[in-house]
Amino acid sequence: MKIHEYQGKEILKKYGVAVPRGIPCFSVDEAVKAAEALGGPVWVVKAQIHAGGRGKGGGVKLARSIDEVRTLSGQILGMQLKTHQTGPEGQKVRRLLIEEGADIRKELYVGMVVDRVTQRVCLMASSEGGMDIEEVAAHTPEKIHKVFVDPVSGLTDAECDDVARKIGVPEASLAQARSVLQGLYRAFWETDASLAEINPLILTGDGKVVALDAKLNFDANALFRHPEIVELRDLDEEDPAEIEASKFDLAYIQLDGNIGCLVNGAGLAMATMDTIKLFGGEPANFLDVGGGATTEKVTEAFKIMLRNPNLKAILVNIFGGIMRCDVIAEGVIAASKAVGLKVPLVVRMKGTNEELGRKMLAESGLPIISADTMAEAAQKVVAAAR
Ligand code: ADP
Ligand code: MG
Repeated sequence: MKIHEYQGKEILKKYGVAVPRGIPCFSVDEAVKAAEALGGPVWVVKAQIHAGGRGKGGGVKLARSIDEVRTLSGQILGMQLKTHQTGPEGQKVRRLLIEEGADIRKELYVGMVVDRVTQRVCLMASSEGGMDIEEVAAHTPEKIHKVFVDPVSGLTDAECDDVARKIGVPEASLAQARSVLQGLYRAFWETDASLAEINPLILTGDGKVVALDAKLNFDANALFRHPEIVELRDLDEEDPAEIEASKFDLAYIQLDGNIGCLVNGAGLAMATMDTIKLFGGEPANFLDVGGGATTEKVTEAFKIMLRNPNLKAILVNIFGGIMRCDVIAEGVIAASKAVGLKVPLVVRMKGTNEELGRKMLAESGLPIISADTMAEAAQKVVAAAR
């Protein structure tokens, strides 16, 4: 789950990380009042969307007067902000952060992720912070320093000082850098974050270490432990189909292709998408209906897939283990009738009661294309989509 920059900064602040004073706003009037409350002489008007690269896309602007705050807020609020993370259609800006302008001497980068290989939290830090960190990672990876944090000792003072020196924090600011890094680590650990990034972390003219941006993502599987984080969810920023799917406990992710996939089990779903691609097709979604799918769940899954205007064909690939193929067949038939299915449907079922399931599909009178192997199913659905 993602949150906005201003929400991330609130969390970091609780963990002792210095952030600029700022006020979130939903209208131009609120933005003007916020700027007046903060006081000048320089403010930054920042679009709040769940995507990075806002600065380059025109969503972060400096204002040198209250009038400029008003003008810029009017321009940015409501704009369709396009960044390298939003996709070509962009994301509508509905919230702003009005922040005091910082005196930037140097822009650094710090981030944390879970490293799967070492199974530890990995701190990444670089002297080359700011808006081009992707370029740094691609062309000069030696400028990114890593620390794999021991979960028992946590991020130690020595590790913090060492990495801070490597990224050019002066001796006089080391203690501050330490409290930023350790605060970030504690925030990451205690909120079950999957990503925490401060880019840029700045050194100010008077030697302070301040987080000028904040990006926090959380592990959705741990959200039950964090009701206060669930409250920060902004549904405007999420894909409507994915929101609908989560209501029915379906794991659904919208993709760019035109072949809908309905599969039980995440592993089989991944393999199904791979097989579709192998035969030249493009999946329209990832969809795992889970082990205990009911007719109702299968119907909802069909409805969600069919909302996608790009959809040209559907592949249902089921392994009947605990799940019985006849139950799936019943669901597929009911769903096809309920939604008035207009696109070709290929079904492959294996396992418990597959004969019965296939018989039910054949006798349903619906134009269902059946397949025996995964390769056959993928080839048939790719052909049908064309
Ligand atoms: P994004 O990463 O989405 O582009 P940032 O919050 O990192 O957005 O802002 C982009 C750039 O704008 C920063 O690298 C920094 O140079 C500048 N900036 C952001 N906030 C402030 C601020 N409060 N004061 C001065 N400059 C800022
Ligand atoms: Mg940034």
